[in-house]
Amino acid sequence: MESNQKSSKISGFYKLPINQRIKIIKNFSELTDEDISSLIAPIDMELADTMIENVIGTFELPIGIAMNFVINGTDMLIPMVVEESSVVAAASNAAKIARIHGGFTTEITDPLMIGQIQILGVDDIASAVQKINDKKAEILQVANAQDQVLVNLGGGAKDLEIRILETSDQKMIVTHLIVDVRDAMGANAVNTMVEALAPIMEELTGGYIRLKILSNLADKRIAKAKAVFDKVRMGGEQVVDAFLESYTLASIDPYRAATHNKGIMNGIDAVICATGNDFRDIEAGAHAYAARNGQYTSLTRYDKDDKGNLVGEIELPVAVGIVGGAGSIHPKAKFCKKILGIKTAAQLSEIIASVGLAQNFAAVFALSTVGIQKGHMSLHAKNIAMMAGATKDEIEKVAEMMVKEGKVKMDRAKEIIDSIR
Ligand code: NAD
Repeated sequence: MESNQKSSKISGFYKLPINQRIKIIKNFSELTDEDISSLIAPIDMELADTMIENVIGTFELPIGIAMNFVINGTDMLIPMVVEESSVVAAASNAAKIARIHGGFTTEITDPLMIGQIQILGVDDIASAVQKINDKKAEILQVANAQDQVLVNLGGGAKDLEIRILETSDQKMIVTHLIVDVRDAMGANAVNTMVEALAPIMEELTGGYIRLKILSNLADKRIAKAKAVFDKVRMGGEQVVDAFLESYTLASIDPYRAATHNKGIMNGIDAVICATGNDFRDIEAGAHAYAARNGQYTSLTRYDKDDKGNLVGEIELPVAVGIVGGAGSIHPKAKFCKKILGIKTAAQLSEIIASVGLAQNFAAVFALSTVGIQKGHMSLHAKNIAMMAGATKDEIEKVAEMMVKEGKVKMDRAKEIIDSIR
């Protein structure tokens, strides 16, 4: 990503009325009036009807903008679609601390996805493997014939890997087709290829094919992000040490790691949804990768640098696309990609890894200091006020009173509503 002059640090953004926030985003990301209309309007029912089956309506979620992000030297505003309060604010706060030392830097691999072909009933496994290897060029050619567009873009099937797996009563050959999917998430592209290969593999091996499908453990499509979090801004080296103690539990205990990684996915899924990507895909890949060494563990790692600042790193599979899937047809996903100003899936992977790290830092930082509830309380109080029946004009006041009293409860909200009416 090239450096630009715009700053994603826009003070007081959260206090502005929504229309002014939109104006700022419009200028920052050079959006048109048409883009803004698609942001505001609900999605078309006819479009929804083409996306899934048996449609009866659409379901709206808020789009919030995470501020302060600098990723590989570029200031970025990050659209997040999420129902949970505090996620956007937490990401923005973490990014604010990270930008003191230059923000997030990333590293990514090529966009290689894996398609699996399960071959059963083979009498002579060694000879079948030999035949597959001998015919590798022809096999890749047949796979590539399925997607000329991808091949013309420099992608396509690149390699085969063969694994032998066994149960107590059966041995099987599992062939992995390695496909460079360029700017796509790649599931349809890969599935089409592995399905086309099934008859050839049967003929070559003398066995029969059962499964032929993409693997969501996209461990050849990895994104890493790194950031330095300033010790002074965190509250001193003792807070950094407290942070590291909290993090340690996630590194050794699956019970904590699950919650720790859930915090990462709070941010990642929000960007995945905003860009019309498949959040089940990213979740499956992330959690499988977290268990890749036999024990489920943290997707992030933390340490101190020689000045006592906290250094955070994240590493996970990021199978995302900017073409194909729902992201190409959902008007709001198109708009959110425009806000990000991205031109490639690689850029989106870099953003996703950075947001995951920011979100994780924010959660562990809060847990190591004031606890998670303090940050959650004010928005949570508004939700409780709303549920208790507060009108639009009453919500703020009821929430404020409950937070002040430290009693964010439905019955108290009802009492306050009665007392102010
Ligand atoms: P797709 O088939 O809609 O689009 C990909 C195709 O776009 C490529 O095959 C290529 O022909 C074309 N293309 C044009 N420009 C391209 C570019 N710059 N880079 C790459 N390709 C380009 O989508 P897909 O990405 O193959 O599949 C994604 C969809 O598959 C998602 O909606 C996902 O939910 C769904 N899906 C997921 C799984 C899974 O995760 N296990 C399984 C099945 C389907």
